[in-house]
Amino acid sequence: MEEEIQVPVSIPLDSDGFLRRECPTCEQEFKWFNHAAGDDDAEPTSQYFCPLCGVAASLDSWWTPAQLEYGFGSAGGALDQAVRDAFTDAFKGIGGMKFEPNSSLSLNIETPDPLIEPDDMVIVEPPCHPNEPLKVPDSYTERVFCLICGSPFTT
Ligand SMILES: [Zn+2]
Ligand SMILES: [Zn+2]
Repeated sequence: MEEEIQVPVSIPLDSDGFLRRECPTCEQEFKWFNHAAGDDDAEPTSQYFCPLCGVAASLDSWWTPAQLEYGFGSAGGALDQAVRDAFTDAFKGIGGMKFEPNSSLSLNIETPDPLIEPDDMVIVEPPCHPNEPLKVPDSYTERVFCLICGSPFTT
């Protein structure tokens, strides 16, 4: 199979538009504001700083385990469908043979339940980058690092 299977995975935001993230360094969770595509307020950057421990990591290293599991699960469901479609296509050209796709061809990958994003944590706004607000656990508001430049600030 040369074809690449693109799977749109939608990770839910909380009601303020924040996306839950997990730091690959300290493994603690926070949230960053999810700018819509093309939003001029979105700060162009090649890495983000963890607001909790201040260590930087590349843009795509912030998925929580639940999000990864959900992503893989969703991809699995799409893969399952692609396999079934491929079988159906393969049998189409065979004269006189009728092929009914059935569940025995399934890879039995279950599509996961949608993720639920609770409205927890407190919103903090870095004075240096107010266009990139964050949500951190209550106990971290004393010292937060800016997502974009890593400068510490208190709220
Ligand atoms: Zn961290
Ligand atoms: Zn900043």
